[in-house]
Amino acid sequence: MATATSTIPAAARPQVNVSQTKILIDGKWCNSVSGRTFETINPTNGEVIARVAEGEKVDIDLAVKSSRHAFDKGPWRKMNARERGKILNRLADLMEKNIKELAALETLDNGKPISDSLAADLPLAIDCYRYYAGWADKIEGKTIPINGPYFCYTRLEPVGVVAQIIPWNFPLLMQAWKLGPALAAGCTVILKPAEQTPLSALRVGELLLEAGLPPGVVNIVPGFGETAGAALSEHMDVDKVAFTGSTEVGKIVMKAAANSNLKRVTLELGGKSPNIVFADADLDAAVEGAFFALFFNQGQCCCAGSRLMVESHVHDEFVERLLTRVKKQKVGDPFDPTTTQGPQVSQEQFDRVMGYIESGKECGAKMAHGGNRFGKLGYFIEPTVFTGVEDHMQIAQEENFGPVLSVMSFKNVDDAIERGNKSFYGLAAAVWTRDISKAHRIAAELRAGTVWINCYDVFDAAAPFGGFKMSGIGRELGEYALHNYTEVKTVTVAM
Ligand code: NAP
Ligand code: MG
Repeated sequence: MATATSTIPAAARPQVNVSQTKILIDGKWCNSVSGRTFETINPTNGEVIARVAEGEKVDIDLAVKSSRHAFDKGPWRKMNARERGKILNRLADLMEKNIKELAALETLDNGKPISDSLAADLPLAIDCYRYYAGWADKIEGKTIPINGPYFCYTRLEPVGVVAQIIPWNFPLLMQAWKLGPALAAGCTVILKPAEQTPLSALRVGELLLEAGLPPGVVNIVPGFGETAGAALSEHMDVDKVAFTGSTEVGKIVMKAAANSNLKRVTLELGGKSPNIVFADADLDAAVEGAFFALFFNQGQCCCAGSRLMVESHVHDEFVERLLTRVKKQKVGDPFDPTTTQGPQVSQEQFDRVMGYIESGKECGAKMAHGGNRFGKLGYFIEPTVFTGVEDHMQIAQEENFGPVLSVMSFKNVDDAIERGNKSFYGLAAAVWTRDISKAHRIAAELRAGTVWINCYDVFDAAAPFGGFKMSGIGRELGEYALHNYTEVKTVTVAM
């Protein structure tokens, strides 16, 4: 696995152009009202990349005013829907044209391997904008036969001014999941990127203007959750808030929405997803799938397969094969195209993950691999595997959001289902088996928003994604996401 630690700092300073660090309000880039800025850090070496304008309540008020005006008076909501689609397509074209620059910016600010930025984040984000460009002129109501001499029909109208609060794990992709359906539906948006990774969202703001988006349709306010994020969730002039992040903050956002104007709320929160491997599976594929399910994106995925459950009589063989695979992980400089694992996003996340590793040791789980800091600079953690994990342990229950895999064994189908469902979360799950009846039965019984069979982390803009239980409310992607950004209006005409 290890690359020489000494290569990390030098290679961590690539030539990446940071073109935008201000707040976007009403089509113009501005400083914060207070003039304050905050640092965004390179997680590879802990150095400051740039200072970014720090939006607070006053800046949010200005942004909401602009979005409100753009919704109530502007052309966006009322324009030919196909024109909205054209602008989304132009954005996708511009992102494609600037794909290398955007990927480098994402890797610089977030620390994810450049090969992942180029192969996953960028193509998925671009595809998402194109997918919703196609929807813009296909958001249709129904005609409804009702009693009496009436003609009744529904219109799907944009929900209005939308606040979107996004996390740092997939900055460009989360921006696309949020903006795509909102803009296709005719909403206007105030987007708050995560404090750790504001840079790529701001660059997309520049591209949105270049694509011809009218002023105020998307305002982007970088800043902190407790100030800018809170101001958005409690704002009386915001019609809906869409949030992705921790369950803890999701509850705060929902309370703020309830205590203000009952704005609509969608939440995409955490998970502790069971990844269930049966002895009759294609074990080579399952090993690769189990590895990818957890270690992709440094383990910083809401749907990470962090509870790996292996049928007892293949458990030892499976773990041995898995460890062979884990040892091939190449940790190091994310700008090295051969690197497969970069740093965690921040010191805070690094500390949190190291805390979970300590907890695993204290609970008596067996450390089968890793468990240490990697190198001396930045926020790198060795890929870590615990075996002998039991359901009651903290590492089996809480999202750790790092490269730490918990392996447990199970006895049979009923045991797998019961223990797979033993979680407050219900975001995703996977099952590996060659027995199709068993696979479909388990898919039906698991209380999770997504179940992958003999695969993991297969995402498509058309396939809905979101959580059961404390993993969230509502669905992103696909046609379902449009429901979150539209209101149904019933119109009844006397004939
Ligand atoms: P977080 O605090 O939930 O952050 C997510 C977003 O919410 C950020 O934009 C954040 O702003 C904002 N926010 C924070 N407090 C807020 C408030 N009071 N009102 C409105 N918005 C607020 O997550 P985190 O601290 O970055 O990470 C903590 C844990 O959350 C992780 O370890 C992981 O378990 C989970 N997480 C889940 C996802 C996911 O995809 N579901 C993504 C990231 C993290 P700031 O920019 O100031 O942070
Ligand atoms: Mg950063």
